[in-house]
Amino acid sequence: MQVEFKNEPFTNFSLPENKKAFEEALAKVESELGREYDLIIGGERIKTEKKSRSINPSNKEQVVGIVSQADQALAEKAIQVAASTFETWKKVPGTSRSRYLYKAAAILRRRKHEFSAWLVKEAGKSWAEADADTAEAIDFMEYYGRQMDKLSQRHDLPRIPDEDNELYYVPLGVGIVIPPWNFPLAIMVGMTTAALVAGNTVVLKPASTTPVIAAKFMEILEDAGVPAGVVNFVPGSGGEIGDFLVEHTQTRFISFTGSRDVGLRINELAAKHRPGQKWMKRLVAEMGGKDSIVVDSDCDIELAAQAIVASAFGFSGQKCSACSRAIVHQDVYDQVLGRVVELTKNLTVGDVRSNEFYTGPVVDDKAYNKILEYIEIGKTEGKLVAGGEKGPESGYFILPTVFADVAPDARIMQEEIFGPVVAFCKANDFDHAMEIANNTEYGLTGSVISRNRANLERAREEFHVGNLYFNRKCTGALVGVHPFGGFNMSGTDSKAGGPDYLLLFTQAKLVSEKL
Ligand code: NAD
Repeated sequence: MQVEFKNEPFTNFSLPENKKAFEEALAKVESELGREYDLIIGGERIKTEKKSRSINPSNKEQVVGIVSQADQALAEKAIQVAASTFETWKKVPGTSRSRYLYKAAAILRRRKHEFSAWLVKEAGKSWAEADADTAEAIDFMEYYGRQMDKLSQRHDLPRIPDEDNELYYVPLGVGIVIPPWNFPLAIMVGMTTAALVAGNTVVLKPASTTPVIAAKFMEILEDAGVPAGVVNFVPGSGGEIGDFLVEHTQTRFISFTGSRDVGLRINELAAKHRPGQKWMKRLVAEMGGKDSIVVDSDCDIELAAQAIVASAFGFSGQKCSACSRAIVHQDVYDQVLGRVVELTKNLTVGDVRSNEFYTGPVVDDKAYNKILEYIEIGKTEGKLVAGGEKGPESGYFILPTVFADVAPDARIMQEEIFGPVVAFCKANDFDHAMEIANNTEYGLTGSVISRNRANLERAREEFHVGNLYFNRKCTGALVGVHPFGGFNMSGTDSKAGGPDYLLLFTQAKLVSEKL
């Protein structure tokens, strides 16, 4: 009998044995830095002339890995291999496909600290954030395996006389998986394994800033015995091969997680029918956020401040769920702001090689420059009350930043900054707070901190986000427990880590037999 799904526990790094094990994993990873990684198409490793260098954002001098880059000819080859492999892979029973996920989850669990150490090096995650990312990757595989087992069971339909009716969930075909860099293991693993366990074959184009962690995950799929050609690893720039893969007539679906602008572009390209294309492509897009924490007048002030700080500055605000807007009732505004500023000024920022810092760098020079530009914009739109400065120049460090007295329609209240910046906005009353909370084009996460039952009930209905939390932070969704995904410009309303997610990678077929 199947063991019940349980979330992977997080590691307690205050225990000396865990700290030691993580130090050893970091040392192992450091001994492997700078290696080369190839494309993998149909199990064949392919080196190309063109390579990209993945850099440690805590230490710009340190090369994490050197990764071959696909051109369009190799992207074409990957699609052809995925298309031919689909013919065999789709016939493997769902319950057998799920076994590959359980095996891969077990291997990742054994190599957990090593993978988290790669996340420290390649994405600049603190130990705790890296550990949570790896745990989530394990969870996705355990969860989607079980979902596939369920989906493979007989789905009986209401009986009518002399007919046997049954519904089957059959795979779609070749999927292009385009993950982001901010959960370079968890989201990439979740997107890839959901598609493959449902019986599809995959062309995986990892995020350009975090390809090494994806290459390491390919090792796990190989060790788990996933047949060659089921997942084809094709790093390359979005501009060079992204459009090509999306537009290809053999592409049946695209699973994308990333920014609003790239998501909209993919949506447009995917919608266009091309000669020889037999289907309308399906797009599953999980996009940006501009997430709010609403603080009511009757609330636990300390809880509100802690929730804002954790949601705004964990992983330097580089989570789609991060709080970048604190909408606070005027009666408690000064108290909440004062406490947030105090907590923020105590946060430490530095090279996450060491576990002594709360948070690390932002991911690359592009993010660094963009966030610093938004800080300049913030200075014209509000009052800078914490941070607003660069950290040590050895990496892409930016101090956690708080702006007070920002208007609801200010740019820093509307545009996704994706860095350690939170704007405070004063609400006259709860009506006003709800109105401000809903005045963005996004709808991903949100929190309400309140003791007022009537206001919580109201927010339950009115606060239009995919993931709404009460009296807690707005980050930290757990697979299975908090199915994740947002409304409006935050994507196509899917729920990763939820009971309906695999359906997005299947189509339902009814077979009716006259008896
Ligand atoms: P991004 O849009 O820049 O890139 C996402 C992926 O798309 C990368 O793999 C990139 O290489 C690829 N890409 C870029 N141009 C492309 C093109 N023309 N064709 C095909 N692929 C292309 O986003 P990012 O900076 O990697 O990630 C951060 C964004 O992701 C934020 O907006 C964040 O809110 C969002 N995000 C959303 C969720 C969610 O669940 N809703 C989760 C994580 C991140």
